[in-house]
Amino acid sequence: MDFFDDVMTKAKEAIDVASKKTNDAVTVQKQKFDIASLESKRARDFQILGELYYNKIKNGAEADGDVGRIVKAINEKNEKINSLKSEINSIKHKRICPKCGTAVEQASNYCGACGAKLVFEEEDGVE
Ligand SMILES: [Zn+2]
Repeated sequence: MDFFDDVMTKAKEAIDVASKKTNDAVTVQKQKFDIASLESKRARDFQILGELYYNKIKNGAEADGDVGRIVKAINEKNEKINSLKSEINSIKHKRICPKCGTAVEQASNYCGACGAKLVFEEEDGVE
């Protein structure tokens, strides 16, 4: 093998190594993406499983230990959410007295707190 052939062979080997490294890097990137995608789908599956299980046992006495604590925490959050939703509903059906700032029923003609006559302009789109 003369000098030129030797240089060409070594250059080709170097290119093959670099090419393999590039291919490996692309493969690893794709695999990392696939892993992230699968982990995301698995997290959703865990969530669905949790909701299914919660709905089975939420009112039962069988939940104890860690499961029982989580069920209790979810129940408490549900109560708070419902309470906030109901507050929003009641706020939506009330208006604020322009004189004293008290929330009064939308249909009231006088403020229950200060007795001011309530003349409201028609509001748009409030249900
Ligand atoms: Zn008032």
